[in-house]
Amino acid sequence: MDKRKNSAKEKEVIIEEVKQLFSEYLMSNRCRKTPERFAILEMIYRWEGHFDIDELYLAMEKSKFRVSKATIYNTLEILTQCKLVHKHQLGGSSTYEKSYRAEPHHHLVCLQCGEVSEYHFDGIRQLIEETKFPKFKQSQYALYIYGICSKCTRLNGRKKAAETLRRKKAEGKKKVKKLNAYSKTKQTKKTKK
Ligand SMILES: [Zn+2]
Ligand SMILES: [Zn+2]
Repeated sequence: MDKRKNSAKEKEVIIEEVKQLFSEYLMSNRCRKTPERFAILEMIYRWEGHFDIDELYLAMEKSKFRVSKATIYNTLEILTQCKLVHKHQLGGSSTYEKSYRAEPHHHLVCLQCGEVSEYHFDGIRQLIEETKFPKFKQSQYALYIYGICSKCTRLNGRKKAAETLRRKKAEGKKKVKKLNAYSKTKQTKKTKK
């Protein structure tokens, strides 16, 4: 069995558990238990991978619950505080993902466009989980690997090719100009004779 993805049945159990945890958190912090907040939580726990506020907003719009962006923002703040959602602040934008009973994974971050993708590397996971840290008990970890994504690499390649072409054309024009100037001086010399 693939250990990475929770089965459909497990997913439903997890959704019930996070609803319970969220309910307790809202009560103990004197926050209102609105159906919108629970609908957002459920949407997040059905989501695979990372998302940003706009993506979540669009998904909610398609569902039965139409909520404002302010509600989404506010709910995400509460969910981050009660540790049911993990917020990634990378570059200028923020992305989120569910954190309760989430499988550990690693993040590949593009330094050019800011895209974050997930990468599962069991060797690294095992190594970190089995490491005994002196005077420290680990509970979770996050790993970010920075670089350039394939989309940006392709884009950069095209930009570079266009730049080379432009330079070659400019050089070609210069050569023609030089040649013209040279033949003109030759002609004027001839006419002088
Ligand atoms: Zn990129
Ligand atoms: Zn992630």
